[in-house]
Amino acid sequence: MSTTARTTANAPPSTERYVGRFAPSPTGPLHIGSLIAAVASYLDARANKGHWLLRLEDVDETRCQPAFAHDIVSTLGAFGLHWDGDIVTQSRQKSHYESALATLNEAGHLYGCECSRREVADSGQIGIDGPVYPGTCRRKRLPLDGMAVRFKLGDGKTHFTDRRQGTQSQDLSRAVGDFVIRRRDQLFSYQLAVVVDDYLSNVTDIVRGADLLDSTARQIALQRALGYPTPRYLHFPVAANSDGDKLSKQTLAAPVATGDRLGVLRGVLHFLRQPEVHRAADCQRLLAAAAANWRPEAIPQIRSLVFSGGA
Ligand code: GLU
Repeated sequence: MSTTARTTANAPPSTERYVGRFAPSPTGPLHIGSLIAAVASYLDARANKGHWLLRLEDVDETRCQPAFAHDIVSTLGAFGLHWDGDIVTQSRQKSHYESALATLNEAGHLYGCECSRREVADSGQIGIDGPVYPGTCRRKRLPLDGMAVRFKLGDGKTHFTDRRQGTQSQDLSRAVGDFVIRRRDQLFSYQLAVVVDDYLSNVTDIVRGADLLDSTARQIALQRALGYPTPRYLHFPVAANSDGDKLSKQTLAAPVATGDRLGVLRGVLHFLRQPEVHRAADCQRLLAAAAANWRPEAIPQIRSLVFSGGA
């Protein structure tokens, strides 16, 4: 299947085995925003008779803790969200990121950058993710070792069609500039790790919060440079509190309460505007019924939505 077909198709094709995934970062216990991502990706996978994988995104080891990974895994189990196959842990995938970096370097896509954060902040315009890198080190031919490693962008816009948010187009040079794929301290970036991991796991469908919509064009640029296929994307609105702030670890969203699990799951289904499931004795039955009635087209086409708990 061509890259274009993969990025523009709205419904999963019948010839290909659907592979979806949930990819939390263990920087805190599972909060409601992550549970929504788990449930939405799980239901889309099960409704398409696909696999649903679990990947712990601890690539930024400075922010992740094994105790949180533990909490996430056991909370998913308590909610009846059972994944297929072995859990992938990014901190054990480094050799794969190294070889992707070598491939990109051989093809002339990378360069070393010695700019400090301050220099970038002073020289760049503000883009979607902080200062836009102005390309200061592009032609300096610095070595990659001991430097931040940047991905050299081509000209033009990157287009893709999201299954829920519609046609997207981003001029990466204006919105972010050549971006870092390995930091000076050797940590690989989320953008590279996610692309390599999704490829290695044959992921066909990515269902995640719309806070990552703006990262998608960067990921597609890397997929193209590496010769990987592009998966289909579905970005659902992120859960916000009544002040409109995203519920995340940064805004100290509380860990998901595991007491009334059926009630919490019903709240998630309501948030995703899914048909109500009457009478389910346990979480697994509720999820099975929700998968049988899964209507991705009912998910609101907006980037954030207040999570009100229940119907
Ligand atoms: N690890 C990311 C997060 O927890 C999600 C990455 C993704 O789904 O691509 O926000």
